[in-house]
Amino acid sequence: MKKKIILFISLLSILVIIYYREKFVLIFSNPEVFLNLFLETSKIAAFSLYALALNLAIFILAAIIEILSIGWTKSSINRILSNRSKSTYGDLWCWALSILNLYDLFVLLFSFGFFYATTSLVMNNASEIHLIDKIGSPIIVFILVFTISDFKHYIWHYFMHKRPFWELHKYHHSATEFNLITTTRGHFLEKGFLTIIDVFVFLFLGVTPEYFVFIAFGREFYAFVLHADVNWSLGWLGKYFFISPKAHKIHHSDNEKHFGKNLGTFFNWWDHIFGTYLDTDDEIQIGVKDSTFNKKGFWNDMIIGTKEFAIATLQMTGKKEQKSM
Ligand SMILES: [Zn+2]
Ligand SMILES: [Zn+2]
Repeated sequence: MKKKIILFISLLSILVIIYYREKFVLIFSNPEVFLNLFLETSKIAAFSLYALALNLAIFILAAIIEILSIGWTKSSINRILSNRSKSTYGDLWCWALSILNLYDLFVLLFSFGFFYATTSLVMNNASEIHLIDKIGSPIIVFILVFTISDFKHYIWHYFMHKRPFWELHKYHHSATEFNLITTTRGHFLEKGFLTIIDVFVFLFLGVTPEYFVFIAFGREFYAFVLHADVNWSLGWLGKYFFISPKAHKIHHSDNEKHFGKNLGTFFNWWDHIFGTYLDTDDEIQIGVKDSTFNKKGFWNDMIIGTKEFAIATLQMTGKKEQKSM
């Protein structure tokens, strides 16, 4: 079965090369065009000191809130500086790559350009509906875009907990402690899948960059808070409105009873609607039992994730073909 799939992918690649041959010749015969395309698709060209400063400011704000509530000794910054676990090293790599705008470069390299090709295909062919252009009030637009984008994240997260995507998302869950920056801990290919979904949703809505930046940084701040080493339940707000840090900790639990619960990342409404909400006072140990990650460093973990994802995908397509035969 594996042979058939490899043959199919090879044939497909040949057809793509033949179809786009003129473009390929242009790209590879002109180093400047090639370099520009590479810088643009890897998003290195989009690096800005302003975005870096904003990123750091959001992190510092979340860190101050954490220090004020649990004290310096237990705080993430103190543990990052003086008592790093193997999982923290992974968090640091992910955080550094994301704030320096280098994450997309590795998304591009690890997927051999697959995500770039698919997102540009969607962007070139999707008729932009620009749903929000039809609404006058900017406040309603903001609430609508924020809510839809939160629901999109819930659906994406739901699929990340199913095979074969779990093999990638497992890397985020293999963190053995929360350090605020644990939120940025994610496999390169997982980020690639999220980008495809984002392109679909934001094209459909027709979101302008101002909304996008505002929503992205707002969500990022909350995501830092969700990965603080605190046990806040947020009272009735955490029960009916928002995913609390306590709820996200339950989501990261290594106990099977808690798997696939609290999939929301801002509102918990989706968990209530689809029956994935869970509140418990059980003792929570975060991580993945018998994890293959956190042993030989960050880059090895990225390779392990890619391999396990490929194996799971092949196994699943193999099984389906056997069933239909
Ligand atoms: Zn998850
Ligand atoms: Zn998390």
